[in-house]
Amino acid sequence: MRLSLARGIVAAALSAALAATLAAVTPSSAAEPDAGLALTYQPVVAADGRFRAIEVTLRFRGAASGVTIVDLPDEWGGFDKLYNYLGDIRAEGATLAPSSDPAKIALRHAPGAPIVLRYLVRGANRAEQLQDGEVVNDYRPLIQPTWFHLIGDAVVARPEHLDGDTPASFSVRGMPAGTRFASDLEHPGLTVDGLIESIAVGGDFRLIDAGHGARLAVRGSFAKRDDAGWTQSFRRVAAAMSEYWGNDAGRYLVTIIPFAPPGPGATSIGGTGRGDAFAFFATTNALPEMLDRLMTHEMAHSWVNARIGGFSDTVPEAEQFWLSEGFTDFTSWRALVRAGVWTPEQYFAQFNDALREYDASPLRAAPNKEAARLFWTDEKAQRLAYLRGMLFAHWADDRLRRAPGGSSMRNLLLAMQAAAPAARSDAVTLFSAEAQRRDAAIGEGIARFIDRGEPIALPADMLAACGTLRQFERLVFDRGFDVDATLANDRIIAGVAQDGPAWQAGMRDGMTLIGRSGGEIGNSQSEIAYDVDDGGTKRTLRYMPQGRARETVREFALDDLSPPAARQACIGALSR
Ligand SMILES: [Zn+2]
Repeated sequence: MRLSLARGIVAAALSAALAATLAAVTPSSAAEPDAGLALTYQPVVAADGRFRAIEVTLRFRGAASGVTIVDLPDEWGGFDKLYNYLGDIRAEGATLAPSSDPAKIALRHAPGAPIVLRYLVRGANRAEQLQDGEVVNDYRPLIQPTWFHLIGDAVVARPEHLDGDTPASFSVRGMPAGTRFASDLEHPGLTVDGLIESIAVGGDFRLIDAGHGARLAVRGSFAKRDDAGWTQSFRRVAAAMSEYWGNDAGRYLVTIIPFAPPGPGATSIGGTGRGDAFAFFATTNALPEMLDRLMTHEMAHSWVNARIGGFSDTVPEAEQFWLSEGFTDFTSWRALVRAGVWTPEQYFAQFNDALREYDASPLRAAPNKEAARLFWTDEKAQRLAYLRGMLFAHWADDRLRRAPGGSSMRNLLLAMQAAAPAARSDAVTLFSAEAQRRDAAIGEGIARFIDRGEPIALPADMLAACGTLRQFERLVFDRGFDVDATLANDRIIAGVAQDGPAWQAGMRDGMTLIGRSGGEIGNSQSEIAYDVDDGGTKRTLRYMPQGRARETVREFALDDLSPPAARQACIGALSR
C-alpha cells in the first residue's frame, strides 16, 4: 500500500518529515500535532566503539482520553516475549502507570498531550542464539559489537490509538563515523504499519546500489561470493525485473547477514519479506545460485502482487498465494531468460524440478481452499501454492498465445499493472477479468486447476520453439531403507527392505549413515550413493533408488539448441 503515492499521503509525509527535522534539532521537544508517529534510532556506543544497544525514541500525541496504551513487541516470526529485549523505558509529557500485562505499558497524560517515549533495545546475544540453535532467520534484535539488525516488529512499540495508516516519519542519529546505515524507513508515504514492517541495519555493512531503485546492504564474507559477485548479480537481477515490467523496483532494499553453517556441509538460507525490502540470512557457504534465486523471487514481489492488484481483504490470504507466489516465480524466471541472465537450459531445469515436485505432491489434487487451510502447518501445502501457480501461469500463457490476437502472460500482467491503480480490485479478481477478455477458457481453468485442484494439463507442444513436454512412466523413487527412522535413531540405519535396492547394494540395519555423496532425492533415474560406517570401516554404497511401483512423470525435453537460430527462437518464445 505504501506504493500508492496519493497526493494527500505525500503531503502528510512531508509535514511529518519536517516535524522530524525540527525534533532532531531540539531532541527533547515533543511531536508536532500532525506528525503522527515519529521514530528515531540512535545506537548506544561504548568507549571502544562497540554497539551496546539501540535507543528508540517515539514522538506522538497521547490519546484524547488521557490514557495511552502502548503495545510492546511480543510474538513475531516464531519468537515470543520480544519485550524482554527492551528496557529502561522513560516518558516525557506522561507518567508511566503500572501495567499487569508485560506486553503493554500504560501512559497517563493530559488529553492529547505531546509525548516522548524512550527505551533501550538490547540484542539477543550470540551465545544465547547458538544455544537456541538459531543460527539463521533470527528475527530478534541483533546487536553485535560491529553491527546491528532491527526488524520493526521486534523493536518498535505502538501506541494503540494510532491506526496503521497514520503518517509516520523516521530518523537515525549518532551513527559512528565510518559505519553505514540502511533501512526501508527513509521513504515518502511512511505509515505506522511501515514502521512495524521494516528492516534497519547498521555498522560494518557495505552498501551496493544496483540501480533501478534496488539497494543491497551486505556484511561479512561468503565463501563462494565476493562483493564484485554481489554487485554484478544484484544489478543484473534488478535490471531484468525492471525491463520485464517496464518500471523500477522503487527503492527496494535487500539486507544480508552471514552466519556460520550449523554443521559441516550444511547450507541454509532464509529471510522475511518487508514489503519494500527483504531481510535475508544465509550461511557463509551458501551457493550463489541459491542466494540469487531467493533474492530474485523476493524482489519480484515488488510487482507480484503489489502492483497488479494486491491482496483481497475479504478472502483468506492463503487462498491467494497460488497467484502471489506462483506468478512471482513465473515472472522472475521469465525475466531472467529475457535479460540473458538465465539460459533456456537453466530455465527448464527449474521448470522440470517444479513439475516433478508438483506431480509427486500428495496434495496435488487438493482444492484451493483445502490447500490454503493447510498452508501454515504443512510444508507440502506451502510448496503447492508456488508450484500450482507457476504451472498454471504456463498453462494460461499457452492459451493466450493460441487465442486470436496472440497475447501472452506477460502482456496480460502488464495490462493488470496498468489497470490496477484505477481498478480497485485484488490481483486474483483482476487476473480473471483481464484473462476472460482474452480467452474465456481461462476462467474455467482457474475453476478446474486452482479451485477444484484438477491436475494442470500442459499441452505437449507448449513452448514448441524450445522443445516438447513429454510424459512417460518410470519406477518410483525408493531409498530402500527408512530414512526418517534412521535420522531419528542417531543415524543408525533402520528399516532396510530385504527385497529393495539398498539391501542389494550391501546396506544393513545397524550400520551408521555418514551421509549422501551422490544422486538426487526424488529422482529414481540417477544413481544414489550413501557413505556408511560398517563396523568401523567407511564404505560407499551405490545403487539405483527404485521401488517396484510405476508412476507417470512429465518433463520438458529441450530440442538441440546448439544452432544459434534455434537458441534465439527459444529465448524469443520465453521472452514474449
Ligand atoms: Zn514469495
